[in-house]
Amino acid sequence: MPDPLTGGMVSVRYTYAIPLEIVYRTPLSSWNPFDLDYLDYYTPATEAQRIEALQRPQRGPNGKLTRNGGLIPSTAYNGTSYYGFFYWTPAEFYSDTAASDPADTSGAVVGVLDKQGIVRKVRASGHQIIMSGIPNIRTKLRNIRQRYPIHPLAGDKDVGLASARALKHMFTTKQSEVLLQSELNIPSSTLPFWTNPSTIARHFHRMNVVGSNIDKWVSNTTTMVTTEQENGHTHRLRILRTLDKSTGEFTYQQIDCDGLGQTCADGHSKICLTDDLC
Ligand SMILES: [Zn+2]
Repeated sequence: MPDPLTGGMVSVRYTYAIPLEIVYRTPLSSWNPFDLDYLDYYTPATEAQRIEALQRPQRGPNGKLTRNGGLIPSTAYNGTSYYGFFYWTPAEFYSDTAASDPADTSGAVVGVLDKQGIVRKVRASGHQIIMSGIPNIRTKLRNIRQRYPIHPLAGDKDVGLASARALKHMFTTKQSEVLLQSELNIPSSTLPFWTNPSTIARHFHRMNVVGSNIDKWVSNTTTMVTTEQENGHTHRLRILRTLDKSTGEFTYQQIDCDGLGQTCADGHSKICLTDDLC
């Protein structure tokens, strides 16, 4: 592409860093106040290390995997590990009780033996989507959220999706009615007016401003309208349209009748949008 300053051709490269998820980390990830034993075989771990991390917390005195996180010494986990046994946070740190769903390990209180063989009640220290309740730390509506998914940006380049968004935009803007009328050839509506009754030979006239003229009728301008015939005559009215900014609606006012000023020779002095208000 041309350099905007020198005009010379320069090559441009782009890199993208697209987050798949935002995770807000907290000190809970490294807070181990009970100094619980921890197997931290992060990658690269051998298969033997992985199995040890998986099994050691569950291993009972007889070598069998009899521990399940119970709250008594015989069933409490024997230490913690990165591999599914990341339980460091003291249970009383959270205000809500343990989750009733046993599959939801994020909320469950488990027992873990510390290095002195004392059972400590702890909860999982991994990231939660919605954190469990913490006393005095709570937003107005809900507990703290730690994980947020990111909307896939890949869809922004999709032509079909762009069309759908354009259509959605059409339907949610003020121009949508005009656009639809022109695209679908819907005839424009007319705007009817009525004069008030005359003072001579009581009659009134109806008139229509056709839709195409309504669309072009700018606020604070006048337009000429010929009334329908009643009592053997018509009138040529000049009507002023003004926008009431407080309500967003237009008001209409009879300015001139047959070049004689506001009031017609037979007494029509104003117009109305319905035939029974004048
Ligand atoms: Zn008349």
